[in-house]
Formats: sequence, C-alpha cells, structure tokens
Amino acid sequence: MVWLMRRCVDCGRYTLKKDSCPYCGGKLRIPHPAKFSPDDKYAKYRVAMRNVEAKE
Ligand SMILES: [Zn+2]
Repeated sequence: MVWLMRRCVDCGRYTLKKDSCPYCGGKLRIPHPAKFSPDDKYAKYRVAMRNVEAKE
C-alpha cells in the first residue's frame, strides 16, 4: 500500500508512521499527492470523458 507511506522531509526515508519520522523525528509528508483535489472542478468532466472512451 504505497499510498499509506510517508516520507521524512529531513532524512528522506519512507515510513508507515503518520506523525513523525521513526529514524530522526523529522516531519513527514505524503510523497505522492492525490491526483484529484476537491477544488478541481474539471475532475468530473475528465472522468465522464474517460467513461465515454472506455465504451468505444
Ligand atoms: Zn527522518
């Protein structure tokens, strides 16, 4: 489950912890941001177009 992993901004190691790095105690951030944000008002249109393409 790659999307559950966090990456330490200080040492660059990956971890499954959510609060702080188990190696150096640094801050963690998600290495791969979500493709679709709630603010993306065009996301639903892209999904609709993809569905159309899938039918052909
Ligand atoms: Zn670290």
